[in-house]
Amino acid sequence: MVSKIDWKHLQRSVELAKTALEKGDEPFGSVLVSADGEVLFEDHNHVAGGDHTQHPEFAIARWAASNMQPEERRKATVYTSGEHCPMCSAAHGWVGLGRIVYASSSEQLAHWLREIGVTPSRVRNLSIQEVIRDITVDGPVPELAEQVQELHRQFYADRRRT
Ligand SMILES: [Zn+2]
Repeated sequence: MVSKIDWKHLQRSVELAKTALEKGDEPFGSVLVSADGEVLFEDHNHVAGGDHTQHPEFAIARWAASNMQPEERRKATVYTSGEHCPMCSAAHGWVGLGRIVYASSSEQLAHWLREIGVTPSRVRNLSIQEVIRDITVDGPVPELAEQVQELHRQFYADRRRT
């Protein structure tokens, strides 16, 4: 279930995705929130420089490993505009972070990209639960997923223009 508080953090993750788009990066954003509701870290995608591992969920996992105790990580929540890719799911699992809430799923993204006519990525499209054994996951959230879809549509429209 997605609460009002979840909604607020998810909205922020979509805002960050929009910021990424404006900077020429892929439209993904994520927020790390502590057990008591404090925003600890947020980031957006940074792949425009050519490093395609620069995903916000990966940055969150690394930040959490350096700055949080295992117990704090376990109780923290990661909000993200798009479901974690397998790399980020694995990083999330390895550092022992808790619940994930996403606005749009990897399945939705794959569907949208097919519609746009984008070649699927080399990395397989796996759900978070296919990568992490014991994880609480909520999403997608239809109203926010629509906004994310629009950001992806814009991203590929901009690329075709250049
Ligand atoms: Zn990723």
